[in-house]
Amino acid sequence: MTHVVKVMNLQKKYRLGKTDVIALNNVSLAVEKGEFMAIAGASGSGKSTLLNMIGCIDTPDQGSVFINGKDTSGLSEVEKSSLRNKNIGFVFQTFNLIPVFNIIENVELPLTIRPELSSKDRRELAIAAVQAVGLERFQLQVPDKLSGGQRQRVAIARALVTSPSLVLADEPTANLDSHTATMILDLMLELNQKTKVTFLFSTHDEKLMGRVRRIIRLQDGEIVG
Ligand code: ADP
Ligand code: MG
Repeated sequence: MTHVVKVMNLQKKYRLGKTDVIALNNVSLAVEKGEFMAIAGASGSGKSTLLNMIGCIDTPDQGSVFINGKDTSGLSEVEKSSLRNKNIGFVFQTFNLIPVFNIIENVELPLTIRPELSSKDRRELAIAAVQAVGLERFQLQVPDKLSGGQRQRVAIARALVTSPSLVLADEPTANLDSHTATMILDLMLELNQKTKVTFLFSTHDEKLMGRVRRIIRLQDGEIVG
């Protein structure tokens, strides 16, 4: 079976003043369809760098990233953008919602570059995604009217509206209190079980780990367990 994600021998350095920081050192991993997997590690351990490589937002110095069996090295920016839009949903620590758009409009955003969908189709998919995260009562509100946990639910709906095979979430609970963080993790678990979408998320919060079956631990850019 093809892996949703396969990365092989990833290497990434950043130049910081006169020194090189090794952000990722020889990282390899494979994620199967339907997995719910955490990347754990302290701040600076390379979690965001790894997720950015997998999401084709940044390119490795060495090594390769395969998404659903497709080698992403050598793709043009347009091809990467299309691969992202069709295969990957993104969730960020700071939610990244558009303040002047209401909830439905925010969730609909990734569909606006799909010429094959009518505006009615787009709206219906957005409404279904908002319902799936339990926010239908708020769909005409702007993000400012919502709590942090509710905003992250909107971001999860936006990530899922395209029916991706993979959701990448970079510290999705880091800006939330621990009770809300647990609720967001439980929502992601529930959506993972219901829709079989693969979740790959990073965290430095050990309290959340008990709920996750597979954990990859990063330290100084290397997998340590
Ligand atoms: P994490 O997400 O686990 O906190 P990061 O992937 O952001 O870790 O960073 C890994 C290492 O790479 C850190 O030492 C960080 O300072 C460095 N780094 C990340 N991005 C950059 C950048 N754009 N320029 C220079 N150094 C960077
Ligand atoms: Mg980070």
